[in-house]
Amino acid sequence: MVVTRPGTESGSDVDILDRLDGVKRTGKDRWIARCPSHKDRSPSLSVCALADGRILIHCFAGCPAMDVLEAIGLTMSDLFPKPLGNHFRPIRSRIPAADALATLDHESLVVTVIGADFLKQKQIDEPTWARLAQATNRINKTRAICAPPLVKR
Ligand SMILES: [Zn+2]
Repeated sequence: MVVTRPGTESGSDVDILDRLDGVKRTGKDRWIARCPSHKDRSPSLSVCALADGRILIHCFAGCPAMDVLEAIGLTMSDLFPKPLGNHFRPIRSRIPAADALATLDHESLVVTVIGADFLKQKQIDEPTWARLAQATNRINKTRAICAPPLVKR
């Protein structure tokens, strides 16, 4: 089973559901499956395909999204319609507003996901802290390009 993202080419489909066990459809663009990141006897991983092409995953037992993805050989960028690398151009060049928004959208979701785990006092491992630092760095760079400070320091 493949999550078909609305409004994208079929080539950009991610076979996230193929990589999960015990997948059951629970509604339009929604599934539940056994979480690959913990010993999951009754399915506790929610998978949801959003209209804008993003895929949301959530383990109700509390596994961080990155751990769930790692367990099935995927990364955060696989949850988004465009590869992460396409969003970035060299700093100081003007970037299309759509790319800037996509970057801010993606990186703020990364911050939100990690932040939510942190607030739930989940263990945050070293690669996740590094990814958080990368996300804040990318947000700052994008903001510096799109909304330069009025007063230079
Ligand atoms: Zn889990």
